Formats: sequence, C-alpha cells, structure tokens
Amino acid sequence: MALVADAGCDLENYLRYPDEGLDGRIAALRAELGPRVLVLAHHYQRQEVVRFADFRGDSLQLSRRGMEHPEAEFIVFCGVHFMAESADLLRAEHQQVILPDLNAGCSMADMAEYPQVRDCWEQLQELGLAEQFMPITYMNSTAAIKAFCGQNGGLVCTSSNAPAAFRWGFAKRPKVFFLPDQHLGRNTGVKLGLNLEEMVVWNPRLALGGNTPEALRAARVLLWKGHCSVHQRFLPEQVDRWRAAEPGIKILVHPECSHEVVRKADLTGSTDFIIRQVSQAAPGTRWAIGTELHLVHRLAEEYPTQIISPLDNDGCPVCSTMFRISPQHLAWVLDNLTQGQVVNRIVVKDQVKHWARVALERMLELSHHTVSQGVHPIGAHAGH
Ligand code: SF4
Repeated sequence: MALVADAGCDLENYLRYPDEGLDGRIAALRAELGPRVLVLAHHYQRQEVVRFADFRGDSLQLSRRGMEHPEAEFIVFCGVHFMAESADLLRAEHQQVILPDLNAGCSMADMAEYPQVRDCWEQLQELGLAEQFMPITYMNSTAAIKAFCGQNGGLVCTSSNAPAAFRWGFAKRPKVFFLPDQHLGRNTGVKLGLNLEEMVVWNPRLALGGNTPEALRAARVLLWKGHCSVHQRFLPEQVDRWRAAEPGIKILVHPECSHEVVRKADLTGSTDFIIRQVSQAAPGTRWAIGTELHLVHRLAEEYPTQIISPLDNDGCPVCSTMFRISPQHLAWVLDNLTQGQVVNRIVVKDQVKHWARVALERMLELSHHTVSQGVHPIGAHAGH
C-alpha cells in the first residue's frame, strides 16, 4: 500500500461539511471525471455513499468490476482495505485503486497477521502435519494471507462458495486449515457433515494454538481464531425472542454468525443470498435478519411490502470501519483526481500479488459460473 500523493485539496476542508452538504459537489466531480472513474460500494456501506456508486455488491463481485470496465483509470472502492487490495490484485495494468479512507480496515482480516500464520504453519511442519492441511482463506483476509494460501497449494473462498472450496480441499488433502473466520469455517464444516469435535481452533497467542499434538493429528479442520465483530453480536437468545414475539417470522442470517445462531435460523447465506431471499419472498413476509444494519435497512426500504427487522433489535450491528468511508472522503479523493492527483492508492507488492492471484484464480476456476451474478447496477451512474 502506498500513499502516492496527499497534497492538493485539503481533507480538513471537506470534513467541515455535513454529509448531505456535498451531494452537488460529488455529482459535479463525477460528471467532470466521467467514465475515467468507477465508484464501487459494498452492500454494508452507508446510503449517503452508496447513492454515488456505479455498482454495489459484495467484495468479490466489486473487485471484478474494475477489470470489466477497462475505460476506468481509477477504481474508487468504498469498502474496507482488503476489498481494495483484492481489486488491485484483479485490476488491469493501467488502472489504480483508491480507498477513500485508509483507516477503513476490517477487524476480522486484521485478526490473522502474516507472521502469526507463518508461525502456525511452522509449528504444524515441526509436527509433520503441515502437508496434510489444505490452507483456505476467506475473501475477508489480507493479500498476504491470500498469498500464503496460494503459495501452499490452497485458495480463497467467499461465503457462497466455501462448501465447494472445502470439498476441493478435501479432495486433495485429508485436512483443511481455514482462516480467518472460525464461524464461517465451522458452519461450512457442519454443512458438509463434519462433527463439531472434528474441528479445532488455533489461538495464535498460545503454543500449538492451544491444542495438543494429538488433537491436531485427529482434527479434520483447523479453524483460525478470528471473527467478525458485527456478526458475532447476534445471539441464539435473539432468535428465541423473535420466535416467541412473532410466530411464523423467518430468521435469515449470514454464515459469519456463530454456529449456535445458524443452527436456530431458518436460512443462512451470503449477502447475495440474503438479498435474493427477500427479493423473491411473498408480500407480507416477516423477517428478522442477522447481518450488517445498513444492508437490513436498505432491504426494508427497497421491499416495503415485507416486514423486515434487524435480528438484534436492541443494539446497532454496524461495520464501524466501513462507516469511515464518508461522503467527505469520497468528495476529497474525486477532487484530487480532477486535479491530476491520486490520493490513498492501494498497491499490493508484486511478490504478494503473484501468489494471492494464484489463490484467487483457483477460486475463480472453481466457481466461475456463480461469481458474476448479483451485482446491482445503480441507476444514476449505471452507464459507466
Ligand atoms: S462486517 Fe465484519 S467482516 Fe465485514 S468488513 Fe466489517 S468487520 Fe470485516
């Protein structure tokens, strides 16, 4: 990652404006830049930013949008750091990827640091076990972790194709090493028929991850001790409360939720799956949805004939790091582009890039027929 330039327009000037005070400015900057810029927004992004995006989608769908739009020299990714890295992995040579606020990280991705993962692998090597494990990383990981998987024969997966990735891994090696989200890994293992006892957790702060050599030898799946701070907030008691209060309500959750929540839900799937379920349901269907709040609110607005509530009705399950991307930051990066300056560029180093792309390409080969579905063009700028 490199900050190419930060001169020119002063971010402080923009931060003085209220969120809605920049609508006209952003629209004018977008018009001036035309198809040279592509603005992408993740489903969890706030509406004040989403309304200026050419496309919204999940991280993989959006990462592929850059290469599908070679006319765009600049890809402004309104998401979090690992997403912009993924777009940089897949971009064309002449394109540059920009993250409007460099502080927009992902707490889950940050839970698996490369030195920790390398250390884990070395401990498995000392036990003579490493070659038995197929490393698979969730898309929500740093480029360095994707590269680790690529270099060691493994691949990347999404929450949609995690079961296919596990099957691919088990066809080649007897065990799977999944990171960084223990919940998606556990839910996927259970979906494929594994018992909870066959999956052990690696805590990077403990020797052997907190396991005995015997437990590691017996395990079918090794789960990295990571989680999403948003989806971990959902609890089985919340499901029970909804069912008691509203018999017949459908509980729809993301597989980053704990196994205890997933087991009690009616339906579990990726953001795209969640959107599809709601879009295809009959009017009057009642939902309690366990995923990021901005997506739940947007679904409630877009499908007013359905009754949609957040599963956690008392708290505020918002992705606080993604929330850092503001209209002010978007206006700032666009203004710099109109003046010929690229700020907040995300660049993955060449050595990392090579192996991370290998891991991504293995996944794309596995699921090329599904990954292009589900990107939502947004009317105002859909012509790009
Ligand atoms: S919702 Fe969770 S996994 Fe997704 S970007 Fe935010 S912290 Fe990361």
